[in-house]
Amino acid sequence: MANLLELRHVSKTYSRGLINAKSTVALQDISLTLKEDEPTIMTVAGESGSGKTTLAMLLLGFIPPSTGQIIYRGRDITTLKGEDRLAFRREVQAVFQDPFAVFNPFYTVDHLLTVPIKQFKLAKSGAEARAKMDEALKAVGLRPEDVLGRFPHQLSGGQRQRINVARALLLKPRLLIADEPVSMVDASLRASILETLRNLQRDHGVSIIYITHDLTTAYHIAKSIIVLYRGGIMEAGDVDQVIKSPQHPYTRLLVDSIPWPTLDQRWGSDTIKAREAGGSSVGCPFRTRCPMAMEQCKTQPPLYQIKPKQAAACYLHAEHSSIAAERLSDLLPVKSELEA
Ligand code: SF4
Repeated sequence: MANLLELRHVSKTYSRGLINAKSTVALQDISLTLKEDEPTIMTVAGESGSGKTTLAMLLLGFIPPSTGQIIYRGRDITTLKGEDRLAFRREVQAVFQDPFAVFNPFYTVDHLLTVPIKQFKLAKSGAEARAKMDEALKAVGLRPEDVLGRFPHQLSGGQRQRINVARALLLKPRLLIADEPVSMVDASLRASILETLRNLQRDHGVSIIYITHDLTTAYHIAKSIIVLYRGGIMEAGDVDQVIKSPQHPYTRLLVDSIPWPTLDQRWGSDTIKAREAGGSSVGCPFRTRCPMAMEQCKTQPPLYQIKPKQAAACYLHAEHSSIAAERLSDLLPVKSELEA
């Protein structure tokens, strides 16, 4: 089966200063694959500084990797030109955190939706353009008559974020990079926007990379999860297994800090008390915060496959076999058990 997207040992390093230049590794040796015929929702989770936004920028082709390759439908995205580049820009869409940022206060919703239709020549007439707008708005649960002709200030944050999703959907994308799409939306509207994204995957065959710091929303929307810390993968696997039974001390720390809505719902009985924040450039990146750190952790741990669909980069699991980074995607489910 052909690959939609393939990351091959992708790293990104930023350098600062001309003399005594300092480099910061934002992302380190990430390998991932999404299949063309198996649309899925994969979460990339982590705190700020984990590298998740750098990953989004790389996937959208906004910045090039320092090493490694990003292959989209068989082509390295840094080499795309002309028609191929345009096709990539149409097929890989983004929804960002701020539902207000893409709106010009002087233009109506119609204008926002018309621009991509014109830019990518999606309609031959005004009537066809209007039909496409209606279709996209209905697909995200909006009634065209409620939003067309309106200015941004006349819409709620939830309506604006759905219009952003509709704008992406107009282009019939194959891949949507959703970077914290509900973090600035009222809690009451989050579930409906997540449901909209899930419908895109299920009904329109769009694969979604859902980038978030919020494991609660990740749990509700995704099939698989990758937990990043300081640019490296700490844990990955089936979202249900990773969140209900985290195996990496960092994931356990994240899970233990989730404010679950029901008081009797507790994931992770042994709360991890993290040591003071800080990073380590050698060995396990979590070493300076990890209460279980040991001498061995001064060298970089490989990913250990703990269960068929769960792996963690931690020496506490060294009794399991290690897996090569490029085989990680083999254990990431594309469907939930109900869909399988
Ligand atoms: Fe902690 Fe060592 Fe595991 Fe890193 S490898 S998470 S420092 S126990």
